[in-house]
Amino acid sequence: MAAAGVATAPRGRQAGGRGLDDENLVFETTPGVEAITSFDQMGIRDDLLRGIYAYGFEKPSAIQQRAVLPIVNGRDVIAQAQSGTGKTSMIALSVCQMVDTASREVQALILSPTRELATQTEKVILAIGDYINVQAHACIGGKSIGEDIRKLEYGVHVVSGTPGRVCDMIKRRTLRTRAIKLLVLDESDEMLSRGFKDQIYDVYRYLPPELQVVLISATLPHEILEITSKFMTDPVRILVKRDELTLEGIKQFFVAVEREEWKFDTLCDLYDTLTITQAVIFCNTKRKVDWLTEKMRSNNFTVSAMHGDMPQKERDAIMAEFRSGVTRVLITTDVWARGIDVQQVSLVINYDLPNNRELYIHRIGRSGRFGRKGVAINFVRSDDIRILRDIEQYYSTQIDEMPMNVADLI
Ligand code: ADP
Ligand code: MG
Repeated sequence: MAAAGVATAPRGRQAGGRGLDDENLVFETTPGVEAITSFDQMGIRDDLLRGIYAYGFEKPSAIQQRAVLPIVNGRDVIAQAQSGTGKTSMIALSVCQMVDTASREVQALILSPTRELATQTEKVILAIGDYINVQAHACIGGKSIGEDIRKLEYGVHVVSGTPGRVCDMIKRRTLRTRAIKLLVLDESDEMLSRGFKDQIYDVYRYLPPELQVVLISATLPHEILEITSKFMTDPVRILVKRDELTLEGIKQFFVAVEREEWKFDTLCDLYDTLTITQAVIFCNTKRKVDWLTEKMRSNNFTVSAMHGDMPQKERDAIMAEFRSGVTRVLITTDVWARGIDVQQVSLVINYDLPNNRELYIHRIGRSGRFGRKGVAINFVRSDDIRILRDIEQYYSTQIDEMPMNVADLI
């Protein structure tokens, strides 16, 4: 049967082939990329335009002005833009524009690093695409396989998923890949980093040879750009220099806590500030999230917590409460660092400094969404000062000591 053949035959395409000197390449924005300043002028179908405006978008953001057209025209695209500037939303509207809803086959596959992000993207597609009757499905771990099978067999146009479950569904031949035209890697530097790379390749080799590939992220380190020639063809690149990556609207501060033991009291002192709107507190490990949550609660502070060892049902409930504003302070790990969009978050605390430069950008970018104001506060032990200075220098940004009136900035 053809389907079996499709599912078992790894694809053969070996694109690119740039040779061995990739590390010497300089990657720059493709010259001549046009900015189209209104959705009306993008050639978007009317019923989708209605959905975009009904969703509340009036004017495309800078990245949307530049990247939508090449994407819907079928080009491979590498699109970088600051956090919260509408990259993921752009993917949602682009896939809606390209799918043929008369067919019942999966035509676009979006892969994301976390279940929550994959679900969020599915929801945006369904909302924006309301008037075109797009069928989208979040294919993610931690959910019922039976439900995946039911949805996929009924027929969907777009799958937004995490690599493990998507691969599983492809191998079971429940997710048919033959009509997939577009693969999007959201948070693509993370998706192509060590932890995910093999899984992505595992999926990629089942996709048709004429595949269009789109990569998006706020951070695209050189070593990631280097490997793109292996699976992309003459991509349109829209890149941001790293000294332009931090947002004016997000004020960054540090508190010199000197020692680990003093972080807790500092956090308690800030509690009233945390609850002005909504706040996210990042720790580097799940255990630390559990420990801090417990300790805050035993000191009568109301906090919620989420990390990857919790059952998906619980993760979903915590996300729903936080999104609706029922809970205001969330203690979490880097499972929350990328892509999650809760507009009310105006404060991010790095209880622990992140383990790499990219994560810093993504974490602080949970606040200040789409031009809103945000504040990021870094707790810095004496032996962390070097790390903070490195971040400051790397992004040519300024991280001042937290002022007394920080609450006024939120
Ligand atoms: P990114 O992926 O770049 O971090 P998102 O796509 O998650 O950004 O969008 C961030 C926020 O901005 C979301 O709340 C989204 O609804 C909103 N947004 C995106 N594009 C527009 C637009 N053109 N007009 C108004 N709001 C927008
Ligand atoms: Mg995003």
